[in-house]
Amino acid sequence: MIQLTSKTLKGPTIQLLADKQSRINSLPTFVKQTKKAKTLWNGKRGSVASRTAFTEIKSKLIGMSVGVELCNYCENNEATDIEHIFPKSKFPNKTFIWENYLLACRTCNTDYKSNKFAIFVPEDSNNRLDVVAQPPTDDSAFINPQTENPLDFFLLNLQRGVFTIHPDLINNPQSRGYLKAGYTLEVLALNTRDALVNARKSAVKYYLDRLERYTKIKASTTVETLEIAIDPLEEIIDNALFDTEKARFLAAVKQEIQTYAHPTVWEELKRQKENLPRTNHLFQQAPEASDW
Ligand SMILES: [Zn+2]
Repeated sequence: MIQLTSKTLKGPTIQLLADKQSRINSLPTFVKQTKKAKTLWNGKRGSVASRTAFTEIKSKLIGMSVGVELCNYCENNEATDIEHIFPKSKFPNKTFIWENYLLACRTCNTDYKSNKFAIFVPEDSNNRLDVVAQPPTDDSAFINPQTENPLDFFLLNLQRGVFTIHPDLINNPQSRGYLKAGYTLEVLALNTRDALVNARKSAVKYYLDRLERYTKIKASTTVETLEIAIDPLEEIIDNALFDTEKARFLAAVKQEIQTYAHPTVWEELKRQKENLPRTNHLFQQAPEASDW
């Protein structure tokens, strides 16, 4: 999980969301509100105006997350669903709130996150969690990647492909940060789905392989050395200028890195590079990659 870059919606879409939300908020009871939230959400593509608005919402959410259309929770599967971070069954007042949306895959949305959601018990000095059906506050125990940086809560163990609690929090298991990290990992099962763990380990190899290729292309000074450095499936165009071809291959590798799955792995390689001699060496040869 990485923090999403925020984007703003167009005026008509903001208005449409506000109108739908006010229809829910005006109802007198929680039960009526949750019922209405469900009906309005299921029928959100029922009119041309609403379809247009939700097409914009989906495309903005795609632009806010990683370069490809990937789930913002597992970073592994195609993101098919507009997911409510605060579930509408518990927070009907956040059904049509832009800041409550992110793109998730069907597996994360349906099989793991679903309507699970804990809050901190109000004014409880032990920071106990509560999963009541009608939460009295929105003091979330689940990390919200729209407003919080998950990497402040977790550290990815790059060798094992699993998340651990961030070192700043590890010594205080009763702190809100520690509990949020643990609860979010548990709900999304980010460490116990073998496919995800293995994919993260593969992503480490992929990113380092591409970064190494980038440094070799960058260091090449002749067509011969460039030919050895590039992807074996690529060809240098005859008669093209050497510098043009070199720039083209550098840009292609950069794009491969920026659009690959598991962007958290890339973020962690940058963050942990001082402790990883090979990775550090590659970033020293290509310092520009630290900004990707
Ligand atoms: Zn997912």
